[in-house]
This record gives sequence, structure tokens and C-alpha cells, in this order.
Amino acid sequence: MSNNVIKNSDEVITKKSKALLKRISTKKNRNQVENALEFSIKMHHGQKRKSGLPFVSHSIDVANILIDWNMDYTTVISALLHDVVEDTEVKLSDIENEFGSDVALLVDGVTKVENIAFRSKEHKQAENFTKLFLSLAKDLRVIIIKFADRLNNMETIQFLSPEKRKEIAMETKEIFVPLAHRLGMAKLKWELEDLSLKCLDIRAFNSIKKKIESSSRSNEDILTNAIKPIKSELNSYKIKSNIFGRYKSISSIHRKINSRGKKFEEIYDLYAIRIIVDKIEECYLALGVIHSIYPPLQDRFKDFVATPKSNGYQSIHTTVLTKDNRLTEFQIRTKEMDQTAEVGVAAHWLYKGNDKLRELDSQVQWLRDLLSMLNSDNSEPEELMDLLKIDMFEDEIFVFTPQGDLIKLPINSTPLDFAFAIHGGLGFTTVRSKVNKKLVPLSYSLKSGDIVEIETNKNQTPNSGWLKFVKTSRAKHEISKYLRKIELEESIKIGNEILEKSLRKLKILDRMPDFKKKYSKAGFKTLNNMLSDIGKGAVIVKDLIPKIFSDLNNNLNKEIEEVEFINRARSDVEGINLDGVKNLVVDYGKCCNPIPGDEVIGYISRGRGLIVHEQSCSNLSSLSSKKDRLVSVNWNAKDDLAFRSKIHITCIDTAGMLNEIANIISRNNVNMLDVSTDVKEGGIANIWIICKVQSRKKLDAVIDDIQKIKNVDSVERVHD
Ligand code: MN
Repeated sequence: MSNNVIKNSDEVITKKSKALLKRISTKKNRNQVENALEFSIKMHHGQKRKSGLPFVSHSIDVANILIDWNMDYTTVISALLHDVVEDTEVKLSDIENEFGSDVALLVDGVTKVENIAFRSKEHKQAENFTKLFLSLAKDLRVIIIKFADRLNNMETIQFLSPEKRKEIAMETKEIFVPLAHRLGMAKLKWELEDLSLKCLDIRAFNSIKKKIESSSRSNEDILTNAIKPIKSELNSYKIKSNIFGRYKSISSIHRKINSRGKKFEEIYDLYAIRIIVDKIEECYLALGVIHSIYPPLQDRFKDFVATPKSNGYQSIHTTVLTKDNRLTEFQIRTKEMDQTAEVGVAAHWLYKGNDKLRELDSQVQWLRDLLSMLNSDNSEPEELMDLLKIDMFEDEIFVFTPQGDLIKLPINSTPLDFAFAIHGGLGFTTVRSKVNKKLVPLSYSLKSGDIVEIETNKNQTPNSGWLKFVKTSRAKHEISKYLRKIELEESIKIGNEILEKSLRKLKILDRMPDFKKKYSKAGFKTLNNMLSDIGKGAVIVKDLIPKIFSDLNNNLNKEIEEVEFINRARSDVEGINLDGVKNLVVDYGKCCNPIPGDEVIGYISRGRGLIVHEQSCSNLSSLSSKKDRLVSVNWNAKDDLAFRSKIHITCIDTAGMLNEIANIISRNNVNMLDVSTDVKEGGIANIWIICKVQSRKKLDAVIDDIQKIKNVDSVERVHD
């Protein structure tokens, strides 16, 4: 039956299948590959490429490329299956049952990477895509399969629409070419680069191609003449060598023409002569031979054998002057170096008679360099992990906007971090967010590949609760900055009100504009600084007046003395002379418990002295018949004086609630005197707290803070 699948399929597929199987050396491997081939043919049955060929022909081409690169059979088998999960009914578990977990992991990696919608507008984006690509891949072989896949897609790109062609070519140029370079896959790099250039600028491509063809015909003799003496000299040392001239890639010539502003004919290093020998020592011997025949250019000599490039490239380059006065570049390397230079990282999977990975030993260093180069924080990988695994970027995630832009964030970032990463305005007004179309809390932990949507409302403002879960310093900074700004605005507003009231009471309200202008006399840098300090209670208007209005100095002090009193519990209140007693005893209404900051009025009682009530106190109305006993009073309480006050809290009865409230109160430097609680049916609790506070402002701050506790319904001051 197995043979029938291949025989009975499309003629092209039968042919391609047989050719593929012929390339496989052992019977065991051939059987495994054949199984995968049949599975793929069956599953892709009926699907066609844009070229009109059956879909599976693409999978076979990709497998062939990987055999060219000497990849192991697990990779080759995975290549045959690389599109079945993505494009057919087959599930990953089917692959695992049929071909084992190694193949399943590779196919899964390719499928995940397949789903990245690459879109690179700028270098930074390309860089992020590359990292996302690598972090999703998990195994370098996934990347190598993806490269083979991309190479085949680029080779058959002519069947796609012009727009699609351009898009894929750009993606290839910006993502795959740089990555191939980093992985040391030089041959693949220039193949992909030339294929992209062909798509993106066919005229430039064709013109260079034509020139290479015509000049290589005329250059043939020159090359042969340059090579001849070296070949015979090396022969005399009994060194086997393979020497040939080769043109550089079309795209690299294109780049040279553009960057140097020269014509094709004026560029001397369009081709190089490559010398391939067996051993490293022979590289240096060949170098000596070349320099003994042709004079070298000193500054054009590079020894990448002694010091390999970070992508693993090894070769000796030297540019010499040949007999006919031409500058010619020689590249000398061993066979092994040549292979590494062509297939780069794939060279690590060279198989020799079995599927076992080759020892990686000394070659591992460049991969180490690669990892640290790609790792944005420049932290050296502590030890090289299993070479197959890509565990880098564990501290970063990559998520998408609904438009497909890629945003890099620290691990555990939330939708709010995402919003602030896009721009502050978006962060400030965020109300809800969706991840992969599902509604999530703003504190949700994002994962690589998530698509994040932010819903905003112009009335939304940041609150201090956000600071508890945001991860990025940008979000933290923006939120704190906002909160500080709001606090400042609030205190300026209050400061302005206090100033106005104070000046009105002193009957100098008309001088308020003047007062505001002279803030520097009171030692403030700006008017807002002064107002906010007044608002926060850091300074008292009374203390500022003598500094700002020198003319009022003495007079006013006297006036102020007339209207202030409270810190001096026994003070003279001029103009009030009760039963000849000058020293008034001050007490506070038990009915309203006023505290500094409240609007108050004094009542001269019989026997109890001056009693201070809130102006809104209901008891005052009963006293209104004794209007002559009411006196205007003003607060002048020192900070160390505290007043009794009561708060009523309604909340859901939860463990730790009282504790949290107590913490908040003590954090505000307020003393708690008494607590009573009452839990109603349905788990609603009433809590009454009696405390001693210095001022209304302080009490309001405590109330505000308690209001912010989760599960608190209401907080209010009670006046009994
Ligand atoms: Mn594919």
C-alpha cells in the first residue's frame, strides 16, 4: 500500500519523491522519510500551490534544501510535515503518535513561527521580530526549516500577486537576510538577498547580472593567468588545493555601486579568487605563496582564521596586485571552514553515517557570542544551554497592537504597560483591555504573541491603585507624575480658597491680587508653590502677611490676635467681656466636634466659657435667640494639638479589613482612640472609629485613603 501512495499521485510528485528518496543513504532513514512523505502527500491531497503544482511539492523541495545543508533526518522529516498542522486537519498529537516527539516539537515550532505576521517598518521592529521569531522557535532547527521554506517560497515567488511579492521580499530582506548573516549562513544570505533584490528592483538586478555575465567571459583569461603560478607553486609543496574565481553576489555588487557612487566597471573587488585547502597550516602557507608572487596591499589583509567573526566565519582575506596591475582579492580557507561559511549554523548538524549530532566543541563560541549579541541587556549567558534550545529573551515578551505592530515589554507586563508603551495619552484614559479578543483585567500578565486591544474613555484618569501592578518604569513614571500633578493642582485650588477666606476675614480681600504678586517676598519661587503650601497647610496665611505687606506688620498682628484663639485655651478675646471674666475657658461642642479647618463660631456660655461649634451645627439654631452671645472665632491651632473626630465606614465584611483600615490611619499619623463594629446580614459591616486628628485636611486624607480600600462602600465623618 505504501508504494501506491507515491506511485498513484501526480506525476511530478512521483518523480520528486523518488529523487528525494534516492538521496537518502541508509535503508532505515529511507523508510522513515518515506513514511513522512506518504503522510504528507495524503494529508495535502487536493491542495495546490499558486504555481498549479500539488502543495506537497513545496514540502519535498524544502526537504531537499535541508539535505543540501546536511541537516539531520529529524529535520528533513519535519520539513516534509512542516505545513500539515497549519494547512490540514492533522493535529500535533497525530504527528507525535506517528513520528515521535522530536518531529512534533519541530513541526509545532514551525507552525508557531508561521503565524507571526512580520511587518517591519523600521530597524527596531525588525530587531524585535527577529527576537520574537527566535523565542517562539525554541529550537534552532525550526529556524533552519523556516529558512529552507523561505528560500523555496522566494524561488517560486513569481506566481504571487505583485503586492504579495513585494511584501514577502521586504520581509525576507529585513528579517531573514540579517538573521542568516548572524547565523553565519553566507550562501543562504546572498541567495535570499539576491532573490529579494530581483523582486524589489528587477532593473538593477538584471543590469548587474548582464554585466557580470559579459565581464566574466572577458575575465576568464585574466583569472586563469592569476591562478596558474599559485597552483603550480602549491603543487610543488604537495598541497592539494581547489582554486577558483567567483563573483560576489548581485546584491553586494549593487550595494558597492550605490555606497561608493561608482560604476560597475570602476569597482575592483567584484570577484574574489578562493583557495580551499585541507589543513589550517596550509592556509598560511598558501598566503605566503600568494604574497611571494604578488605584492599585497597592507591594509587589505584580514585573518579571520586566527580571529573568527562573531558569526563563526573563518577565512584569510588578502588583496594583491597581479601582474597586469589588477587589484585582486584572495580568500583562503579549509574545506571545513568553507562549509561553515556556506551553511553556518547548519554545519552543526552534519551527519556522518548516523543521525547523532556532531560534537560542537570549539565551534560553540560563536553561538555564545550570537546569543549575547542578540540579548538586549548584554548579559552574558551564564552557561551555554543545550545548543538546540533557545532560552534567551526570557525576560522579554513581544506583543502586537491590533494593527500588527510589535511592542517589546518586560516579562509579566500588563495591558496598562502596553498602553503606556504606545503613548501616555492612551495609558491615562485606559478603561478596559482585550487580549486575543477576550476581555481581561488591566493587571493581566501578557504573553509573547498576544494581540492587545485598549479601550479608552476620555473621562478616565489614573489612580494610585495602578501603581500596584504596572511593571514598566514608563507606566510607573507617568502615573506617579500624573498623581503628583493632580495633587498639586488640588492643593493650589485649596490654597487659593484659604487665602481668600483669610484675607476676607481680615477685611483686606481687595489686596489679594497684590498678595499673590509678591510671593517671592515670602520666599517662594512661584505663586503656585505658595498657594500649594497654603493648601497643604505647610504655611499659614497669617504668618505670610507680615512678610508680604510690611505696612500691616504691627497693626495686623493685633487684628489677628483679635480673631484667633483656640491654641490658647485661655485667651483674651477682646471685645468680649463676660461677667467681668477676661480669661475665657474654651470648649468644643459635643454635638458637632469641630476640628481645625471647619467653619466655626463661638458661643459664650454661662459657666462653661466659650464653646466652639461648627457653623452648620444644628444646636446653634436653638441658640440663635441669644445672638448677642455668638462671637466670630478663627482657628489658630498648632500642629501638636489634636481633636476628637469620628468616622463611619460601610464595607463588605472581609478578613483583614479592620487591619487595613488601622494601617491606613496610622500611616497618616493619626491616633485611633476607639473602634466599634457591627456586622449586618449579608456580610455588610459597619465600623465606627474615633480618632484624634490635627485638622480637617488630615481627616479628609484619611477618609479618602479608606475609601480606596477594595470592598469599602462608603466612608463619612459623623458629628456625634
Ligand atoms: Mn511552507
